[in-house]
Amino acid sequence: MAKFTFAGGIHPYDGKDLSKDKPIQDFLPKGEAVYPLSQHIGALAQAIVKTGERVLKGQKIAESGGFVSAPIYASVSGIVKAIEPRRVVTGDMVMSIILENDSQFESVKFEPEAPLEDMSREDIVNCIREAGIVGMGGAGFPTHVKLSPKEPDKIDYVIVNCAECEPYLTSDYRRMLEEPDKLIGGLKIILRLFQNARGILAVEDNKPDCIALLKKLTANETGISVRALKTKYPQGAERQLIYANTGRKINSAMLPADVGCVVNNVDTVVAVYRAVAEGRPLIERIVTVTGDAVAHPQNFRVPIGASYAELAEAAGGFIKQPAKIICGGPMMGFSIFDLNVPVTKTSTALLALTQDDVSMMEPGPCINCGRCVEVCPGRVIPSRLADHVEHFDEEAFLADHGMECCECGCCSFVCPARRHLTQEIKSMRKIQLAKRKK
Ligand code: SF4
Ligand code: SF4
Repeated sequence: MAKFTFAGGIHPYDGKDLSKDKPIQDFLPKGEAVYPLSQHIGALAQAIVKTGERVLKGQKIAESGGFVSAPIYASVSGIVKAIEPRRVVTGDMVMSIILENDSQFESVKFEPEAPLEDMSREDIVNCIREAGIVGMGGAGFPTHVKLSPKEPDKIDYVIVNCAECEPYLTSDYRRMLEEPDKLIGGLKIILRLFQNARGILAVEDNKPDCIALLKKLTANETGISVRALKTKYPQGAERQLIYANTGRKINSAMLPADVGCVVNNVDTVVAVYRAVAEGRPLIERIVTVTGDAVAHPQNFRVPIGASYAELAEAAGGFIKQPAKIICGGPMMGFSIFDLNVPVTKTSTALLALTQDDVSMMEPGPCINCGRCVEVCPGRVIPSRLADHVEHFDEEAFLADHGMECCECGCCSFVCPARRHLTQEIKSMRKIQLAKRKK
């Protein structure tokens, strides 16, 4: 079997056995639901409900704040308790709508806007925008913007990121096994937007059951193929995924559309299907709750806005004191200290580990071993970039292509001196990205 891959990368312990065989369970929150008005890249959504108002599950509660933005919908029924800043997983305080959940889950009626065959390209994109869909793999870029490139006829690949290369995460794996029809249906809808494109379901080869199932279900779809990618982190990073599948390269100043590609992850494509074919806005997602500190690791279907604290309880709580709690995967997730933060559109996992090897060790001086360079998929020199950051030498950081880092964490992972390479590079990238935005 041909192996599609990229240069660099690592093979960390994947921890997926803890939750991969746990079918998706519906999780019904009891406590308040918190909806940050920024769950996406772009302008803050604008609240359209008032304190004291009763809302239904599936009702729009915040309107899109611009073209690059996304509306927000209630995922439970209840009364608007407050509109105030609340803490989110990044540690920031973000203006949020707080619903007192009445546990009735009384819902609006979901109906597709029109039969799919009658929908034009614009109708489909509008429906996706109206449903509040954003990149659910973590980036949060509004999907309708991604699906509206300047020259749609030049798109020749629609790639579904089914790699799920982050250790411990199994939500996409379960989706592929349990709802492959919705995944393929979502891809077919997206392909309707790009008449010259073919679809690729790109799966790492550590999921042979998903590859076999998707191949079987797409056997008669001439415009869709299933690719087995070499299992290696970060195979699912956008640039690495595009390169592995097409041999085309993009840099930090380019978009996938510049090389004829559109990339979306599994949950996002399923959300597209549910919006267009079923008329459902984005109000839930699959979240893996896992780690050796968790009593019963599993995969939940979670209403957006639910609290991580309740979610941890639903998995039986912690059997051992966690040394580290992460929202997301161990490589790119956010460490948190308080579980009272909400699940958002971009939440993928709650990971609780009893050992925190990296943070426990003090960083030492670089021994020039070159391991960070070897594994860097961005083909930059992490040790040198970190030196520039330590001297706050912005010019040198940019000249040495610091913006080509995809913040994958591979360099920190392999560094024997335990230097906080990714953290340092990430902090400088954040400053540079803010400058670019200005
Ligand atoms: S420099 Fe960036 S892209 Fe390269 S390994 Fe480190 S985090 Fe990954
Ligand atoms: S891996 Fe660590 S010790 Fe080795 S060259 Fe890179 S920064 Fe230096």
